Amino acid sequence: MANRSEYWNPKNETLTRDELRALQHYKLKHLCEWAYAKSAFHRRRWDAAAFHPDLLRTLDDIERIPFMTRAEWMDAQAEAPPFGPLLAVPPDLAVRYHTTSGTTGRTPLRVLDGMKDWEWIAEMWAYGLWGFGLRPGDIVLFAFSYGTFIGFWGAHYACEKIGCLVLSTGSATTESRVKSIIDMGVTTVCSTPTYALRMWQAAAEMGIDLARDSQVNKVIVSGEPAGSIPAVKRQLEAAWGAKVGDTAGMTEIGTIMIFECSHQPGGTHIIEDNFIEETLEHASDRRVPYGERAERVVTSFGRGFIPLIRYRTNDLVVKVPHATCACGRTGDIYEGGIQGRWDDMKLVRGTNVYPRAVESIVRECAAVDEFQILLTREGVVDEISVLIELKPGRADHWTALCERLQVDLADAHEGLRFKVSQAQPNSLPRFELKAKRLVDTRPVAEYSA
Ligand SMILES: [Zn+2]
Repeated sequence: MANRSEYWNPKNETLTRDELRALQHYKLKHLCEWAYAKSAFHRRRWDAAAFHPDLLRTLDDIERIPFMTRAEWMDAQAEAPPFGPLLAVPPDLAVRYHTTSGTTGRTPLRVLDGMKDWEWIAEMWAYGLWGFGLRPGDIVLFAFSYGTFIGFWGAHYACEKIGCLVLSTGSATTESRVKSIIDMGVTTVCSTPTYALRMWQAAAEMGIDLARDSQVNKVIVSGEPAGSIPAVKRQLEAAWGAKVGDTAGMTEIGTIMIFECSHQPGGTHIIEDNFIEETLEHASDRRVPYGERAERVVTSFGRGFIPLIRYRTNDLVVKVPHATCACGRTGDIYEGGIQGRWDDMKLVRGTNVYPRAVESIVRECAAVDEFQILLTREGVVDEISVLIELKPGRADHWTALCERLQVDLADAHEGLRFKVSQAQPNSLPRFELKAKRLVDTRPVAEYSA
């Protein structure tokens, strides 16, 4: 029967909080029993910490489970390459192999999925895509490389499941993607926020106004925190003449765990029937109340091959109650999506600087094309500069823009003085995936304290 609901899973997305907790407890117990029986990695760690799945008498007993970290995962992978003792299923039953994108230059994290895992991965994306308004008949273009990085792979399968026509543009140039969007009557585009801006710029250079000339009414972004930055979203929505919806996932999970619904509440719902998202003080085990900055710690119920239980993500989030959104979903919300990484935070002359906060301010200026944050040390003093590339034809905006940015950046950072300077056109790096706009050239060792 056709789904006429605004929810992909009308039952689970509207459970009461008590029902949700009961479901989470039930699933947690089964997941832990599975992991203990099947994964040498988990069994070893839990035995050492005197944890056993029988101890999970209530949902709050989740606090008895030791945290899992990326470092442990990487060590385990190195101990017995290629996958380490994490696997809970023999590798010959896998149907997919993926990795992290490797932007940090380290060995990537490697994951395997079985048929059931892969089905679940698509299912989670379906919650998000349907929730933002995707329906059968939509024509969806993926501006995505289709490499080993897991990225939008699951979203592609979710579109097929919903009944959309999918255009996979793996190795296409930006110009040919723009051409496909027009020629094929594409209604939905999936990309990173940065690349959605790139496509719009390329289209403008081709004499195409995407807001006027395309059928696109939804742009679904992932892969960077910028999708929930109001100024970025406003620019993208104006540029495309479409609604922009944020999502976020992780290779460790294989899919998304949060998505923005079509009511656009300024944040992303957590898919709580499939994940437990604890919000704790960074690098501690103290629970953080609604509305405060926290590190998200995730337990995922969907991937049988690699059970992910109390995994410290290092993601910076602010959780608010589900009732913040009027859509009726009972999954709580991360206000502003994933707000960044805890290790992205920089200390400059005693002041905390978050790249996302700087981006929020810089993107308020419509004349900015690209930018970079530069941290340097001059003598013994740290300096923070923002290099700005203006959009073509906006040079006369410079003086006013520069003054405004200096004031706004200082105001948002306890008076910290930012140098704002202009970069030559096309001199700053452009990104298609996971933009990295902060360059820190300061010696590292002195900051270990
Ligand atoms: Zn909602």
